[in-house]
Amino acid sequence: MTVYNFNAGPAILPPTVLSQAQEELRDFAGTGISVMETSHRSKEFEAINNEVEARFKALLGIESGYRVLLLQGGASTQFAMIPLNFLAADAVADYIVTGVWAEKARDEAQKIGKVHIAADTAADKHNRIPTQAELQFSENPAYVHLTTNNTIYGTQWQTIPETNGVPIVADMSSDIFSRPFDASKFGLVYAGAQKNLGPSGVTVVLIREDWLDKGAKNVPTMLRYSTHAKNNSLYNTPPTFGVYMLNLVLGWIQEQGGLAGMAEYNTRKANIVYNAIDNSGGFYRGHAVTDSRSQMNVTFNLPNQELEKQFLAETKAQGMLGLPGHRSVGGVRASIYNAMSIEGVEALASFMAHFAAKHG
Ligand code: PMP
Repeated sequence: MTVYNFNAGPAILPPTVLSQAQEELRDFAGTGISVMETSHRSKEFEAINNEVEARFKALLGIESGYRVLLLQGGASTQFAMIPLNFLAADAVADYIVTGVWAEKARDEAQKIGKVHIAADTAADKHNRIPTQAELQFSENPAYVHLTTNNTIYGTQWQTIPETNGVPIVADMSSDIFSRPFDASKFGLVYAGAQKNLGPSGVTVVLIREDWLDKGAKNVPTMLRYSTHAKNNSLYNTPPTFGVYMLNLVLGWIQEQGGLAGMAEYNTRKANIVYNAIDNSGGFYRGHAVTDSRSQMNVTFNLPNQELEKQFLAETKAQGMLGLPGHRSVGGVRASIYNAMSIEGVEALASFMAHFAAKHG
């Protein structure tokens, strides 16, 4: 049986990347040992580490002005690290709240400093992204924080909002490198690798170089971005296998035509699943309003919970894994990250049509 992996994260990895990792598992680069058994100070690992930053920047089309840091602690640690470093006592940071993860980022910042809520879609069960006109920024925020893709609700910013020159700090955990973005709008971008970039354990941070100097000085060493930048992300022992996998995935994205190639592919895939929702005569109800739909996490409900249970049991039996919605919202969520194939979304869409015809 062909298995299709719709898990939200950790999530699907490109099959060619898994095969390469398998081939090299016992003998990395002719060393006779696994990359997992190699010192992070070795020239072999250093080459991987450097290649990650180079590939990351090449994919974004930037040469200078930014650093790429490979950290630990997940995106959740970034929720605190960002305000610890960049939200001074006399400053305010603006947060746009569009889902559970954005709420968590806001909550951490509120423990550390002054937070202004520029918009909050909780009253609409986070089923949409705010319009530009709705955003009420404070006078002179240190940064504007937003979550580009809301993994649980299945909404995604279609374009990055205008902030009048205020640097944006973005949680891109669930859509990083699914499409191009203009780095110059961002002071800092962060993402746990485990959805679009690799296994869990590595957190990628893109940070504007001039931000490295302006971080607060009273922050513990491990929680300062400057520590990791100065040490090329080798201040302490990094998650070496995750970094190795990340490097392979970045190489794979380059082979797919880079971020523009990924975006085209992801649009094609998302359209297949959304068409299955839209052509079901109301049997499937998408959670996100149409103009806020995510290309990464497609969330929907069936007429009742009984049918949802049956849908999830039958898809699972057919090898479509990871489709139950997040425990906080229920329903169905198809996570169709970069590595999901067209065949995978076609299998799902065709099952959806069949199931709706039978039970609708
Ligand atoms: N932000 C977003 C958008 C997420 O989807 C997640 C995890 N699903 C997180 C943050 C938390 O990430 P981590 O588990 O890496 O801390």
